[in-house]
Amino acid sequence: MIQCMHAPHAALRFGIETVGPASRLARFVSLPARLRTSEYTTVGASARFRAQQRRRTVSAARVGFLFIAGAALFDAVMLVDREPAHAVPLIALNGGVVLLAVAGWRLIAHSLRRRPDPVAAAVTLALIGATAATGLIIPALTIESAGYLILFPVVVTLILPWSTRTHVRWLAGSAALAIGYLVVAPTAGLSAEGRADLVIVNLVAIGASLAGHALLQLAAIRNHSQMRKIMQLRRRADANVQELARVHRRLEETARTDPLTGARNRLRLEEDLRVVRARMHRLGEAHGLIAFDLDRFKLINDERGHLAGDDVLKAVVQAVRGTIRADDEIYRFGGEEFLVLVRVADLDGVHVASERIRQAIIDLAITHDSNTPHGLVTASLGAALVTSGDLAASDDEWFARTDVAMYQAKDLGRNRVVMAAAIASTAA
Ligand code: GH3
Ligand code: MG
Ligand code: MG
Repeated sequence: MIQCMHAPHAALRFGIETVGPASRLARFVSLPARLRTSEYTTVGASARFRAQQRRRTVSAARVGFLFIAGAALFDAVMLVDREPAHAVPLIALNGGVVLLAVAGWRLIAHSLRRRPDPVAAAVTLALIGATAATGLIIPALTIESAGYLILFPVVVTLILPWSTRTHVRWLAGSAALAIGYLVVAPTAGLSAEGRADLVIVNLVAIGASLAGHALLQLAAIRNHSQMRKIMQLRRRADANVQELARVHRRLEETARTDPLTGARNRLRLEEDLRVVRARMHRLGEAHGLIAFDLDRFKLINDERGHLAGDDVLKAVVQAVRGTIRADDEIYRFGGEEFLVLVRVADLDGVHVASERIRQAIIDLAITHDSNTPHGLVTASLGAALVTSGDLAASDDEWFARTDVAMYQAKDLGRNRVVMAAAIASTAA
């Protein structure tokens, strides 16, 4: 008693819907609407699902047609042997079925492959008609034919995944033929009571066929929906992986780029130098290392502000980028000191590239009155040629060579290029 009193509260607490007569009626009333919006109707009517079922019907029907043709041929031989008196109608009937099955087998794969339902329905109904006609011609086969007529709807359900509409129409046709047959079947072979019983069995078979078709169709629809969901998820996962890879690439790029000037940073310089060393080792390629520092840059900040200084740095990087080749690169080494890595053939190549950079900065024509005697923004450059002979030296030793040359350029009056190799030979 106590349990009974608590039951509705428990149902409410756990969100369980209590099923009373009113809600049962509501469910019944909403049945048509629920059917209209159910997966059976929506997915079942979708072009993609129907196309898939058409393809399945074609394959199943082709095998079925060959089986029907073979069975009709065998049947004809057996029956003509048994009933030679009825040879002509038996051959005509079975021959007709064989021809129709073979024609269907061909057409359903070619010109009528988009409309397999009517083809399969026509051939199977012809088989039913021929079976009924055989039962009428040979009274001894009355019961046997009735048995086949009852069996066909179930077999067709198992084999042909055609549309529900076709299935219902086909069942109506097959029931008309079967019941018509049972009504006019020879009285010698079948009593009135027997006929009534067989009509009922036939109706049960039709009901079973309909239920079987609905269940198989529902299973196919569920399967189809799940496959589509899996494919959608896989596509989404692929897109996510691609997006992640894109973001990762961008992040890697950002982590290696100076945000102010867009030049590459020290991290990237170290990575690129590893590649350069590998190429030097493998291919004997030479490279030019050009370090440059803007002249009296601090005064620009002091006189025009830090933001104006930033603009100068950006303009300089852009100008240098414009003078070097696409596979050469500029790196921000620190502050207003940069390093340019260029692929060259020899020392002369490094010198030419360095002069071009120096000139490009002058060509910006950014006034800098305190930078006497030039009056423009200029840079001092220290350049070195590095070859496979320099592989034993570390990156820092390479930078030290260009740095020394660059400070020589500062000492010699700024706005000039000093070649590190010259220092080396002088020292030697
Ligand atoms: P020198 O010709 O001897 O090189 O003289 P300098 O004034 O350029 O001297 P130095 O190279 O030592 O000056 C570096 C200045 O660069 C100091 C600092 O204020 C400025 N600087 C470094 N990084 C930035 C930056 O990101 N933006 C701006 N606006 N200025 C920077
Ligand atoms: Mg400077
Ligand atoms: Mg400096």
